Amino acid sequence: MSAKLLDGKALAAGLKERIKAEIQGLKTKPKLVSVQVGENPASEVYLRSQRKNAENLGVEYRLQKLDEKATEVQLIKVINSLNNDKGVNGIIIQMPLPGHIDAKLISQYLSPIKDVEAVHPQNMGEIVFGNAKILPCTAASCMELLNSIEGIELYGKEACVVGHSEIVGKPLALLLLNKFVTTTVCHIATGQRGTLPEFVKKAEILIVAVGKAGLIKGDWVKEGAIVIDVGINLVEGKLVGDVEFDKAQERAGYITPVPGGVGPLTVAILMRNLVEAYKLQQK
Ligand code: NAD
Repeated sequence: MSAKLLDGKALAAGLKERIKAEIQGLKTKPKLVSVQVGENPASEVYLRSQRKNAENLGVEYRLQKLDEKATEVQLIKVINSLNNDKGVNGIIIQMPLPGHIDAKLISQYLSPIKDVEAVHPQNMGEIVFGNAKILPCTAASCMELLNSIEGIELYGKEACVVGHSEIVGKPLALLLLNKFVTTTVCHIATGQRGTLPEFVKKAEILIVAVGKAGLIKGDWVKEGAIVIDVGINLVEGKLVGDVEFDKAQERAGYITPVPGGVGPLTVAILMRNLVEAYKLQQK
């Protein structure tokens, strides 16, 4: 058997068409501001993608740069002024922040209805209640990929999420639970205990977000499973995921390529969140 590819690029293109049409129907052009403290080469790809997608979809975009040495107080002042600016609909605090700034503290100062990456505790909490309008982009992208598979009923399925970060694994586990998927979350301690293969082998849905190339062996993958690989690793100049793709593809029913799976969808979800934020601000 050879798995069908879950084409994130094509899915993102369709989603962006719908978002673009929705933006054209809004009273004003939505405005997104990304705040960056200092320079970080790791942020450049994401920043370019934000700008390019904003331009293509009819979103006004501004990158607001603060000096590397800016203090928490200065950053909070900038956030407050963006929160109060009626012309700004979405705010991104670009990660990573310099070491002297506490990212968790800073996220609390964002207006929850302008928090297009869903990092504010209120937006995280809404996921627990199944009420979230603005969702963490990568976790929501995984759900989008699952929902794109025709004829697949999520209700009652058994899933394994590997990775329990605040931006991917934890919110994703809650999104799956909200769909009545029986969900196991594995993490570093599962790996250290040596029981990771056990959990992976049982999973009808396997979602991996760790950042370690080849962590998931192809022969652990259950026959017919849906495999979503969130991991991004650079190996000998090539981007690869966390799952041994060639071997996994022989066993899985569906699998995401890396690149071209989860990645392209995340920025489309970011723009969908911006439209949601815009609408919440009109209420
Ligand atoms: P993170 O570093 O915050 O979390 C890593 C998780 O992996 C932790 O829960 C940790 O406990 C777990 N882990 C580490 N070693 C393990 C092991 N040996 N066995 C089992 N679990 C282990 O990472 P993150 O920010 O969630 O990102 C994870 C990966 O996803 C990275 O490669 C990142 O680049 C990628 N990512 C991709 C996108 C995208 O758009 N495609 C978005 C966000 C993150």
